[in-house]
Amino acid sequence: MTKETLWRVAVEAPMKEPLTYASAEKLERGRWVHVPLGKRSSMGLVLGNAESPLVETFKIKTIKNSDDELPLLHDSFVRWLEWLSDYYLYPLGLVAESSRPPLKRTEKVRKSKRAPVIPQLESDTPPKLTEEQSQVIEAIVRENKFKTHLIHGVTGSGKTEIYLRMIEKTIAEGKSVLVLVPEISLTPQLIHRFARRFGDKIAALHSQLTDREKTIQWWDVVEGRRPILIGARSALFCPQKNLGLVIVDEEHESSYKQDEKLKYHARDAAVMLGFFHNCQVLLGSATPSLESWFNGKNGKYQLHQLKKRVHTSHLPEVEVVDLKLAKDQPQDPNKPSWMSQVLYERIKKTLDEGYQVALFLNRRGMAHVVMCNSCGHSSECPNCDIHLTLHGRSHLVCHYCDYHENFKTKCTACHIGELAAIGLGTEKLEYDLKNLFPDKKILRADRDEIQTRADLESFVAEMEAGTVDILVGTQMIAKGLDFPRLKLVGLVLADIGFNLPDFRCTERNFQLMVQMSGRPGRSLELKDAKGEVIIQTFNPEHESLSFAIRHDYEGFAEQELIHRQALLYPPHGSLISIRIQSSEHSQAYQLAQHLGSRARALQNQFAPYKSLEVLGPAEAPLAKLKNQYRYYLLLKGTQKPVLSKFTRQLIGDESWVPAKCRIIVDIDPLQLL
Ligand code: ADP
Ligand code: ZN
Repeated sequence: MTKETLWRVAVEAPMKEPLTYASAEKLERGRWVHVPLGKRSSMGLVLGNAESPLVETFKIKTIKNSDDELPLLHDSFVRWLEWLSDYYLYPLGLVAESSRPPLKRTEKVRKSKRAPVIPQLESDTPPKLTEEQSQVIEAIVRENKFKTHLIHGVTGSGKTEIYLRMIEKTIAEGKSVLVLVPEISLTPQLIHRFARRFGDKIAALHSQLTDREKTIQWWDVVEGRRPILIGARSALFCPQKNLGLVIVDEEHESSYKQDEKLKYHARDAAVMLGFFHNCQVLLGSATPSLESWFNGKNGKYQLHQLKKRVHTSHLPEVEVVDLKLAKDQPQDPNKPSWMSQVLYERIKKTLDEGYQVALFLNRRGMAHVVMCNSCGHSSECPNCDIHLTLHGRSHLVCHYCDYHENFKTKCTACHIGELAAIGLGTEKLEYDLKNLFPDKKILRADRDEIQTRADLESFVAEMEAGTVDILVGTQMIAKGLDFPRLKLVGLVLADIGFNLPDFRCTERNFQLMVQMSGRPGRSLELKDAKGEVIIQTFNPEHESLSFAIRHDYEGFAEQELIHRQALLYPPHGSLISIRIQSSEHSQAYQLAQHLGSRARALQNQFAPYKSLEVLGPAEAPLAKLKNQYRYYLLLKGTQKPVLSKFTRQLIGDESWVPAKCRIIVDIDPLQLL
């Protein structure tokens, strides 16, 4: 057997390294092949030639055949897949799997009765760019190689128009474009806007398409018939021809992080895709993630800012209602207690004028958060600057370092109120509102109500038609949606967002408030009537609030960066979380302890690891999920490569992990639940 006939192949199995196969066929890197794997057959991606082994301890198997249907993957794309596998510590074969269409092409295409994925619409005339828009575009096109541009612009400041112009320019050069948007904002409105500008040059990939539709879109993109691909995060894996521009809209969205299998962050993966294809990357947001803002400030990304809205000069008026004081004011006896008199009167007025109201309550994690009913105080961990979480009835626990204390109901801050778990939810709001306004149409939008894309679309349609008077929802409704008749937004209890056991909760809360404040009064229908926002809270002095009221992203970001510096939280440092789970509690617990001591031993053994911090093991906030007991270990450090190497060494070949246990690594975790 000669050396030339041995190939390294990434197979679809949880294996850390590619396997070696022999072949008489002429193959090359980026080619899909069918290979034998154990007793079955698997798809594999050819990476390159393999060295012949020094000692033949096993018999090298032969590649069955190369796949003559799937296209050869370009070297830049394969390098990107390799980067993903290496960075996220996930088997390359399982990463590569996502870059194939869901169905075989040869399957018969049945005539479909469904509406076309991209409708044919009359084309629009591009508006004359504003001064700010022109400046940003000039700065971006000055160079024509890889660079990441962060476009920070308030909602309605014309970011999308910048994307459209950049796309136009890129396809005119014969190149293709990838546009990523959060799944929730991938609505018909958005697709229509692109379709009016670019017609049938557009393809879309999202979860509402059938596998057949996806497969057709996929081939249209891969063979270059449609040079513009708009999609949710998984569209990254569609191997586009001659990629010339990558856009990530609403780059701060946490839904860009995939939280199962390959736990990649689509924004970071998009930047690397641009890097390997040597093309420009545009990230846009009204509230950039602190990671991106930090990169913009330190020059890793180029920062551009749009300070003005295109159509209206003003952002909505934001008013804060202090719930501590609100109780003492004269109240209408009919209204529910969670609704302040101010909010009640404003809702009535808005409905009388014929406009829409949206009430928003971030209910996540709520049952676990305890808060004083008089002053809004909640307990913090002395070690972690993180709010404590209630376990059972009597225990407050820190989910980072495992600090415990007894839960005392008397508030230690005001010595008057009682601490209690918060029990308000969107369903309760809906119920109360129906009683209060029996002749108004009330619509609830949260994860229970909106589960499919069809639900989302009918929700958007109802809101647009103007038949809905009051919308009640979770953070879902704060995202990217634009309703012409929405005038008043009320945030029922901002404090819930302040108290989640996560160092990012202040940032998320600020983003939500700004995004919420960006909802009303965006459209021309409300040009003269200003949008209004009312925020109810026990903590009117909370930092994220005072910045949100002034729509002051920069002020907030600078302040928050200082806070994070002290404990080296991202973006100053990096995190890796290692979750340990088992169906048996004692096993999970013991394995977690074992992993903790392994980690500390490793630190003592090698000097470079001394700079890392190993936190835990601690019980996960969701200590038991789907009958699995969960613990985790959190690693923190300022040098990513050192962290990554440490993790590899710590986990090794996993041979020491008992059969019923699993170890799940999350690089740059966003959620620690
Ligand atoms: P963003 O993406 O920042 O929210 P958009 O690009 O959607 O902003 O712009 C907000 C609104 O202003 C849209 O209705 C858009 O069509 C319009 N618009 C954008 N740029 C211009 C311009 N230069 N002249 C006139 N209208 C514009
Ligand atoms: Zn702690």
